[in-house]
Amino acid sequence: MSVATVHTIAPDPAAIRLLPDPGTSVSEVSSEPDLLRYLSASRLKCWQSCRRQFYYRYVERIVVPTAPALFIGRQIHEVLRQWNWAKWKSEPVSPEQLQAALTESWERDSAKEFISWKTPDDEATAQTQAWAMLETYFAECPVAPDEQPEGVEVEVECSLGAGIPPLYGIIDLVRPGGRIVDYKSAARSPSDGMAAHQHATQLSCYALLYRSATGERETGFELHHLIKTKTPKVIISTYGPMSAAMESELFFLIDDYLEGIAREAWVPSPGQHCAWCDHLDLCRKRSGM
Ligand code: SF4
Repeated sequence: MSVATVHTIAPDPAAIRLLPDPGTSVSEVSSEPDLLRYLSASRLKCWQSCRRQFYYRYVERIVVPTAPALFIGRQIHEVLRQWNWAKWKSEPVSPEQLQAALTESWERDSAKEFISWKTPDDEATAQTQAWAMLETYFAECPVAPDEQPEGVEVEVECSLGAGIPPLYGIIDLVRPGGRIVDYKSAARSPSDGMAAHQHATQLSCYALLYRSATGERETGFELHHLIKTKTPKVIISTYGPMSAAMESELFFLIDDYLEGIAREAWVPSPGQHCAWCDHLDLCRKRSGM
């Protein structure tokens, strides 16, 4: 049996570049104004999940159809925002007004974007489901009806120090005493402990924003999950304030983010999450699969 000798030649990185040139040099990309103008939980989370996906979304800015689950989640958020806003102003709002708000927001947004419904009937079914999820939430919400929110859809920007872009975010609801609430809509119930693990980056960002805006520590977090099962469910997960370890992890991530962008380190992270990536086909094609 003969043994073949394979001679390798160091490849020219430019010759094997798989991604289209964003049209600028490395240094120009790293100083691209929007990319480094601010940090957000969604940018950091995307970077953490897959840098190649980050490239497609924030550098190449590929526009993709809106996923139905994302659209439904946004509509639910909008109605909850109006509900909490009415509480903040002490102006009661009826279920009929909230359902009308869902219809209005749905029609307005669906006229502006392309949503990848599988069949023509799916949209009407989804709207009915969204209202059923909201009705279940209103009936089972652990927040007392007369509780006055500390903040609703709070838009905050905070400085993280010299050389780091500011952090920007919108917090869904702040309950009295500094409890930060974030709404999640999902097809399945979160498993024990997983929700905190999955959303640690987002919660840590909110803690920094809250501390910066108020000068005080948050007292904890609540994730209010609206679950889209046949009979909708509501699951509330509660956590303590951001720990020192969570804060440290967030700053490690920010360092990695800033260095990675400067190096154009758009490394793909193939895994189970690729199954719901908007760019799977393109990613496979560009990787020569
Ligand atoms: S398909 Fe997978 S590896 Fe490719 S961009 Fe999406 S998440 Fe990343």
